[in-house]
Amino acid sequence: MSDPFTTIEPRPTLRAAEPGPAPASQLHRFRHGEFEIVVLSDGYITLSADVILPDAEPDERPGILARLQGGPQSAPFQVNIPLIRIGEDLILVDTGSGDKFQPSAGRLASHLRAAGVDPASITKVVFTHVHPDHAGGTIKPEGALMCPNARYYVSEAELQFWVDPNYEATMPPTLHAFARGAQRDLAAIEDRLTLLRPGDAVAPGMQAIETPGHTPGHLSYQLDGPDLMIVNGDVATSNVVFFEHPTWRFGFDVDPEIALRTRQHFLDRAATEKIRMLGYHWPYPGLGYAERKGTVFRFVADAGTHS
Ligand SMILES: [Zn+2]
Repeated sequence: MSDPFTTIEPRPTLRAAEPGPAPASQLHRFRHGEFEIVVLSDGYITLSADVILPDAEPDERPGILARLQGGPQSAPFQVNIPLIRIGEDLILVDTGSGDKFQPSAGRLASHLRAAGVDPASITKVVFTHVHPDHAGGTIKPEGALMCPNARYYVSEAELQFWVDPNYEATMPPTLHAFARGAQRDLAAIEDRLTLLRPGDAVAPGMQAIETPGHTPGHLSYQLDGPDLMIVNGDVATSNVVFFEHPTWRFGFDVDPEIALRTRQHFLDRAATEKIRMLGYHWPYPGLGYAERKGTVFRFVADAGTHS
């Protein structure tokens, strides 16, 4: 198979209105310090306005949904999955939706193949959290693991929260389907799972950092380099809504108050330290910076790192 990291291709020209896969010839590849990274697409998911904008005034919604290139009641969000080579390791951050969430997502396995990557060569799968659009691709439709030779990493707090056998009594009904999915995916990798605590390294120079609230054990991953890069999962699901309105809640946050504190702290730090971020649901390839604008932030896409 060809090496997905060595072929240099032009930048992708995807727009959110044409969400989804970058063809193999348009994949975004770059180097960050010792890390070689290619951003794969799992397709896109569609979220309702009630989930995206619960705190917006009704008259604010149409303008924001239009900026997200959505319709009157919903908007599409892309799904960006970095594949990271460091030393002998080939590391995937999250597994996408597989056939477990929305039919517009679940493209990761075919995009890996198109990029010349055999999923059997992936040595580590590292989860930010185990929502269905992040862990649903773990098991293939026929039941085998997509990455059969990988070691899997998830935060201890995340596992403890979702595997509660009494979840139907302890969690609100809106979380029950998420809990069933998380239990299914975590059970499938039980014997090859490493539990992480904030500060743990998953590879040399790649460290888990605590970003709770979206889920109780949500982790982001910091990659050392000439500057700092953080793969931040769903800390800020929309680079428009939650950068410009950092006090607004997101409908899929398990603990909205903790999620707000995490988001505000994270964006504040990202702006101050000029951290390069990779957001799971931001426009492909999901790379950019937070720029302070008064008391809020503005997303600045990373234009200068394609190699
Ligand atoms: Zn997500």
